[in-house]
Amino acid sequence: MSLWLNGIGVSRGIAIGRVQRLHGGDLEIPEYLLPPEQVEAEVLRFRDAQQRAKTQLQQVRAQIPLGAPGEIAAFIDTHLLMLDDRSLTDAVVGLIRAQRFNAEAAVKRQRDTLVAVFEQMEDAYLRLRKDDVQHVSARVLRILLNQEKAAPPSRGDKSEAASEPIVIVADDVTPADIILLGQQGIAAFVTEYGGPLSHTAILARSLGLTAIVGLHNARRLLRDGEWVIVDGDLGHVLADPDDGARSFFSRKRARQLSDRAALGSLRDQPAISRDGIKIRLLANIELSDDAAHAAELGAEGVGLYRTEFLYMNRRSLPTEDEQYQAYARVVASVKGPITIRTLDLGADKQVDSGARSGPTPSNPALGLRAIRLCLKEPELFRTQARALLRASAHGNLHIMLPMISNTQEFRQAQALIDSARLELAAEGRAMAAHVPVGAMIEVPAAALSVSLLARHAEFFSIGTNDLIQYTLAIDRVDDEVNYLYDPLHPAVLRLIHMTIEGGERAGRGVAMCGEMAGDPRYTRLLLALGLTDFSMHPASILEIKRIIIESDVGRLRARAQAMLDASDSLELQQLLSEFEPHS
Ligand code: PEP
Ligand code: MG
Repeated sequence: MSLWLNGIGVSRGIAIGRVQRLHGGDLEIPEYLLPPEQVEAEVLRFRDAQQRAKTQLQQVRAQIPLGAPGEIAAFIDTHLLMLDDRSLTDAVVGLIRAQRFNAEAAVKRQRDTLVAVFEQMEDAYLRLRKDDVQHVSARVLRILLNQEKAAPPSRGDKSEAASEPIVIVADDVTPADIILLGQQGIAAFVTEYGGPLSHTAILARSLGLTAIVGLHNARRLLRDGEWVIVDGDLGHVLADPDDGARSFFSRKRARQLSDRAALGSLRDQPAISRDGIKIRLLANIELSDDAAHAAELGAEGVGLYRTEFLYMNRRSLPTEDEQYQAYARVVASVKGPITIRTLDLGADKQVDSGARSGPTPSNPALGLRAIRLCLKEPELFRTQARALLRASAHGNLHIMLPMISNTQEFRQAQALIDSARLELAAEGRAMAAHVPVGAMIEVPAAALSVSLLARHAEFFSIGTNDLIQYTLAIDRVDDEVNYLYDPLHPAVLRLIHMTIEGGERAGRGVAMCGEMAGDPRYTRLLLALGLTDFSMHPASILEIKRIIIESDVGRLRARAQAMLDASDSLELQQLLSEFEPHS
């Protein structure tokens, strides 16, 4: 009998295949106390497992296909760094020596301690670092327990089913395993845990692998060898589909595949609508190496470079020179403009690197985040501003300030940037004659006062991920209220429209760099609202370009008011369906 299961679709596409469950994460961990004379041998056993885990990861890293997104190597590097991180490894050795725990028990205890610390963190990205701790610990534990074959899967290529597509069903999948899974040509994967912002989800999107996360009990509900249909667009898994469902989804899949193949031809084509409106498609990047990949996929520049990654996985802050090198490398590798966002860390995010210490605030999403933190810690900001200004000598660099909520904040930040410029000039450093400074619109207050901000900011970029969370008063990292996270809420649309119109009236460019900009479900709507600069994950660029090329922007804009007047997202979707090419 067919069975529908629902999770969170994080990487689009339809896959049809047979289930192969992985049990790698559910390790039985023995716990016992060692006799004193065995303690040092146990330390050696742990060190040996740590070394073997590193060798495994280095081998995986060496297998990364050419042209794969830079994120992949970076994720593996993070795990390699973690295997050398003293908070993990020295603490394990300490537990073996001081408590006489066996190595597995010591790894498990230290893993649980670190996971508990990460779980306290408010910031979604940092909170997900607990996944890294779990993945790295699981790798070491599998080695200690001699269960290295548990994951990733072997297709057993001599079996009858070898040529049949496989859908991996696991509790969680590590980024390193995703590379192997990708090379084995799996059809899709479904995990019980993880959210749309997890590394696993980001990698699946980068690699174009159909994926669903957060499908609780998937391994209990699905059986090895049974056929399933995975719909990554909707987050659905259909187990044991009947013939009707199979042929419906096969047709849908065939349509998607031919659509995707056709997209390659759009790479060098400009993003111009049917009625001649030029739209700019830019990339969101996290690491300096991503810029080249983005250009290959047709990005005309970088609309958002998130600099937080430079500050992570380390105990000290990056120096001005280190930041300068990183920014200069990206700026030089991008042909078009590149917008670099200044540090967007929350109050509790960077204790390790010493940016700020102190008690965790009770409501960090509303606390000392992003520009607020930078203004509170001007030396932190000054170092970054100097590095950015120096990098401006190498290309078309723009500086963007996150989480601006009033003009005062913008002016203070601008004053710090201006004084950094004076210092650098006095030192005789090269810089661009002018570096535009703009504001992210992520707080409803900023959207509502965009005309006032436009007196100071030279450009705007709408960060819908945060704008939606603050407009609808829902924590974007809280599963319990995730159902309220609605990009089509009329209040969100009005703020977006207000920002675009206000920017235009003031002669300021308005881009969008939140996830909404790279989501094909919203492209026509955003065109109707007057958006002309879209910045997104590089993998989405060609698909968004296709929609733009097929759209009549004038006709869409003529319906903008009706869209803004739609009382809920259902009514709006109906309106938008008028513009679907097949309708
Ligand atoms: C946003 O809030 O939409 C955004 C792009 O910033 P981040 O996702 O990094 O908070
Ligand atoms: Mg944001």
